[in-house]
Amino acid sequence: MPLQELATSLYNCQRCKLAKMGRTKVVFGVGNPHASVMFVGEAPGFNEDQQGEPFVGAAGKLLNELLQSASLSRGDIYIANVIKCRPPNNRDPEPDEVETCKPFLMQQISMIRPKLVCTLGNWATQTLLERKVGITKVKGQAFYMKDFVIFPLLHPAAALHQGNLLDTLKADFKKLKEFLDKNTKPAEPMSSATAVATPTLHIEPPQPTQMDLFGS
Ligand code: URA
Repeated sequence: MPLQELATSLYNCQRCKLAKMGRTKVVFGVGNPHASVMFVGEAPGFNEDQQGEPFVGAAGKLLNELLQSASLSRGDIYIANVIKCRPPNNRDPEPDEVETCKPFLMQQISMIRPKLVCTLGNWATQTLLERKVGITKVKGQAFYMKDFVIFPLLHPAAALHQGNLLDTLKADFKKLKEFLDKNTKPAEPMSSATAVATPTLHIEPPQPTQMDLFGS
Protein backbone atom coordinates (compact mmCIF):
# COMPACT_ATOMS: atom_id res chain seq x y z
CA MET A 1 0.00 0.00 0.00
CA PRO A 2 1.45 3.42 -0.84
CA LEU A 3 2.05 5.87 2.00
CA GLN A 4 -0.69 8.20 0.78
CA GLU A 5 -3.21 5.38 0.85
CA LEU A 6 -2.31 4.62 4.45
CA ALA A 7 -2.73 8.32 5.30
CA THR A 8 -6.15 8.36 3.64
CA SER A 9 -7.20 5.23 5.53
CA LEU A 10 -6.50 7.05 8.83
CA TYR A 11 -8.06 10.38 7.86
CA ASN A 12 -11.13 9.91 10.07
CA CYS A 13 -9.72 7.14 12.27
CA GLN A 14 -12.06 5.94 15.01
CA ARG A 15 -9.93 3.02 16.19
CA CYS A 16 -9.25 4.38 19.67
CA LYS A 17 -10.89 6.67 22.21
CA LEU A 18 -8.78 9.72 21.22
CA ALA A 19 -11.08 10.16 18.19
CA LYS A 20 -13.84 11.23 20.57
CA MET A 21 -11.72 13.17 23.05
CA GLY A 22 -11.49 16.50 21.28
CA ARG A 23 -9.25 15.57 18.38
CA THR A 24 -9.42 18.05 15.49
CA LYS A 25 -7.13 16.43 12.90
CA VAL A 26 -5.32 13.13 12.62
CA VAL A 27 -1.62 14.01 12.32
CA PHE A 28 -0.28 11.32 10.00
CA GLY A 29 3.18 12.67 9.19
CA VAL A 30 4.90 14.86 6.60
CA GLY A 31 8.06 15.04 4.56
CA ASN A 32 9.98 13.16 1.93
CA PRO A 33 8.37 9.73 1.41
CA HIS A 34 11.78 8.44 0.27
CA ALA A 35 13.72 9.97 3.15
CA SER A 36 16.71 8.09 4.45
CA VAL A 37 16.34 9.91 7.77
CA MET A 38 13.10 9.88 9.74
CA PHE A 39 12.23 11.64 13.00
CA VAL A 40 9.63 10.26 15.39
CA GLY A 41 8.00 12.28 18.16
CA GLU A 42 5.46 11.36 20.78
CA ALA A 43 2.02 12.74 19.91
CA PRO A 44 0.53 15.90 18.39
CA GLY A 45 0.12 18.95 20.61
CA PHE A 46 -2.36 21.80 20.27
CA ASN A 47 -0.93 23.38 17.09
CA GLU A 48 -0.34 20.04 15.40
CA ASP A 49 -3.93 18.98 16.12
CA GLN A 50 -5.21 22.21 14.58
CA GLN A 51 -3.02 22.08 11.48
CA GLY A 52 -2.76 18.33 10.92
CA GLU A 53 1.06 18.44 10.74
CA PRO A 54 3.66 17.26 13.23
CA PHE A 55 6.03 19.71 14.95
CA VAL A 56 4.53 23.01 13.83
CA GLY A 57 4.46 24.66 17.29
CA ALA A 58 7.28 25.97 19.49
CA ALA A 59 8.99 22.55 19.69
CA GLY A 60 8.80 22.36 15.89
CA LYS A 61 10.48 25.74 15.53
CA LEU A 62 13.34 24.56 17.73
CA LEU A 63 13.48 21.29 15.81
CA ASN A 64 13.87 23.23 12.54
CA GLU A 65 16.87 25.09 13.97
CA LEU A 66 18.43 21.87 15.24
CA LEU A 67 17.88 20.19 11.86
CA GLN A 68 19.63 23.08 10.18
CA SER A 69 22.58 22.66 12.57
CA ALA A 70 22.88 19.08 11.32
CA SER A 71 22.62 20.20 7.66
CA LEU A 72 19.15 18.67 7.38
CA SER A 73 15.92 20.32 6.34
CA ARG A 74 12.27 19.36 6.68
CA GLY A 75 12.29 18.60 2.95
CA ASP A 76 15.02 15.96 3.33
CA ILE A 77 13.41 14.03 6.16
CA TYR A 78 10.10 12.48 7.13
CA ILE A 79 8.50 13.32 10.50
CA ALA A 80 5.79 11.37 12.28
CA ASN A 81 4.64 10.65 15.80
CA VAL A 82 3.97 7.37 17.57
CA ILE A 83 0.42 8.54 18.32
CA LYS A 84 -1.44 10.27 15.50
CA CYS A 85 -4.08 12.07 17.60
CA ARG A 86 -3.66 14.63 20.35
CA PRO A 87 -4.29 13.25 23.83
CA PRO A 88 -6.50 15.63 25.88
CA ASN A 89 -4.43 18.36 27.59
CA ASN A 90 -1.32 16.77 26.09
CA ARG A 91 -1.41 13.95 28.64
CA ASP A 92 0.82 10.91 28.08
CA PRO A 93 -0.59 8.40 25.61
CA GLU A 94 -2.22 5.40 27.28
CA PRO A 95 -1.24 1.77 26.57
CA ASP A 96 -4.38 0.98 24.51
CA GLU A 97 -3.76 4.09 22.36
CA VAL A 98 -0.16 3.05 21.72
CA GLU A 99 -1.19 -0.49 20.95
CA THR A 100 -3.72 0.79 18.40
CA CYS A 101 -1.49 3.39 16.77
CA LYS A 102 2.03 1.91 16.82
CA PRO A 103 1.36 -0.48 13.91
CA PHE A 104 0.71 2.55 11.67
CA LEU A 105 4.08 4.04 12.60
CA MET A 106 5.69 0.69 11.82
CA GLN A 107 3.90 0.64 8.45
CA GLN A 108 5.15 4.17 7.72
CA ILE A 109 8.69 3.03 8.52
CA SER A 110 8.43 -0.03 6.32
CA MET A 111 7.05 2.04 3.41
CA ILE A 112 9.58 4.88 3.70
CA ARG A 113 12.45 2.51 4.50
CA PRO A 114 14.67 5.08 6.27
CA LYS A 115 18.21 4.04 7.13
CA LEU A 116 18.15 6.14 10.29
CA VAL A 117 15.25 6.81 12.68
CA CYS A 118 15.83 9.61 15.20
CA THR A 119 13.49 9.20 18.15
CA LEU A 120 12.64 12.39 20.01
CA GLY A 121 12.26 11.89 23.74
CA ASN A 122 11.89 9.03 26.15
CA TRP A 123 8.62 7.96 24.88
CA ALA A 124 9.30 7.47 21.16
CA THR A 125 12.67 5.96 22.06
CA GLN A 126 11.22 3.33 24.37
CA THR A 127 8.46 2.53 21.89
CA LEU A 128 10.87 1.87 19.02
CA LEU A 129 13.67 0.28 21.03
CA GLU A 130 11.02 -1.82 22.80
CA ARG A 131 12.97 -1.37 26.02
CA LYS A 132 12.24 0.62 29.14
CA VAL A 133 15.47 2.56 29.03
CA GLY A 134 15.93 6.20 30.07
CA ILE A 135 16.62 8.69 27.29
CA THR A 136 19.56 10.20 29.19
CA LYS A 137 21.30 6.82 29.06
CA VAL A 138 20.85 6.23 25.33
CA LYS A 139 20.67 9.68 23.69
CA GLY A 140 23.21 10.64 21.04
CA GLN A 141 24.16 7.04 20.23
CA ALA A 142 23.36 4.72 17.34
CA PHE A 143 21.45 1.48 17.96
CA TYR A 144 21.59 -0.98 15.08
CA MET A 145 18.25 -2.69 14.56
CA LYS A 146 17.50 -5.26 11.86
CA ASP A 147 16.31 -2.83 9.19
CA PHE A 148 17.45 0.60 10.40
CA VAL A 149 19.48 2.43 12.98
CA ILE A 150 17.80 4.22 15.89
CA PHE A 151 19.41 7.44 17.08
CA PRO A 152 17.66 8.69 20.26
CA LEU A 153 17.59 12.42 21.03
CA LEU A 154 16.04 14.48 23.79
CA HIS A 155 12.61 15.84 22.92
CA PRO A 156 12.84 19.53 21.84
CA ALA A 157 9.87 20.34 24.14
CA ALA A 158 11.92 19.10 27.10
CA ALA A 159 14.67 21.58 26.21
CA LEU A 160 12.08 24.36 25.97
CA HIS A 161 10.79 23.56 29.46
CA GLN A 162 14.20 22.94 31.01
CA GLY A 163 16.64 25.41 29.50
CA ASN A 164 19.64 23.50 30.87
CA LEU A 165 18.88 20.65 28.44
CA LEU A 166 19.24 22.84 25.37
CA ASP A 167 23.04 22.63 25.24
CA THR A 168 22.85 18.84 25.58
CA LEU A 169 20.32 18.66 22.77
CA LYS A 170 22.51 20.84 20.54
CA ALA A 171 25.53 18.67 21.34
CA ASP A 172 23.56 15.53 20.44
CA PHE A 173 22.54 17.04 17.09
CA LYS A 174 26.24 17.66 16.52
CA LYS A 175 26.82 13.94 17.15
CA LEU A 176 23.99 13.21 14.71
CA LYS A 177 25.69 15.35 12.06
CA GLU A 178 28.97 13.53 12.64
CA PHE A 179 27.19 10.19 12.31
CA LEU A 180 25.53 11.32 9.06
CA ASP A 181 28.77 12.72 7.65
CA LYS A 182 30.62 9.53 8.49
CA ASN A 183 27.99 7.37 6.82
CA THR A 184 27.13 9.46 3.76
CA LYS A 185 28.71 8.50 0.48
CA PRO A 186 29.36 11.37 -1.93
CA ALA A 187 27.16 11.45 -5.02
CA GLU A 188 28.37 9.32 -7.93
CA PRO A 189 29.26 11.41 -10.96
CA MET A 190 26.32 11.20 -13.37
CA SER A 191 26.49 10.92 -17.12
CA SER A 192 23.31 12.84 -17.96
CA ALA A 193 23.57 16.60 -17.59
CA THR A 194 19.98 16.85 -16.40
CA ALA A 195 20.12 14.17 -13.71
CA VAL A 196 20.62 15.35 -10.14
CA ALA A 197 23.31 13.49 -8.25
CA THR A 198 22.44 13.03 -4.58
CA PRO A 199 24.65 11.80 -1.77
CA THR A 200 23.41 8.60 -0.16
CA LEU A 201 23.34 7.51 3.44
CA HIS A 202 25.09 4.17 3.71
CA ILE A 203 25.24 2.73 7.21
CA GLU A 204 27.59 -0.19 7.76
CA PRO A 205 26.43 -2.94 10.11
CA PRO A 206 27.84 -2.65 13.65
CA GLN A 207 31.29 -3.94 14.48
CA PRO A 208 31.14 -7.34 16.17
CA THR A 209 32.79 -5.73 19.18
CA GLN A 210 29.99 -3.19 19.72
CA MET A 211 29.21 -3.08 23.41
CA ASP A 212 25.74 -4.04 24.51
CA LEU A 213 24.61 -0.54 25.42
CA PHE A 214 21.73 -1.87 27.43
CA GLY A 215 24.19 -3.63 29.68
CA SER A 216 22.46 -6.98 29.42
N1 URA B 1 5.56 16.98 20.20
C1 URA B 1 5.54 15.80 19.57
O1 URA B 1 5.99 14.79 20.12
N2 URA B 1 5.04 15.74 18.37
C2 URA B 1 4.57 16.80 17.73
O2 URA B 1 4.12 16.65 16.61
C3 URA B 1 4.61 18.03 18.40
C4 URA B 1 5.10 18.11 19.62
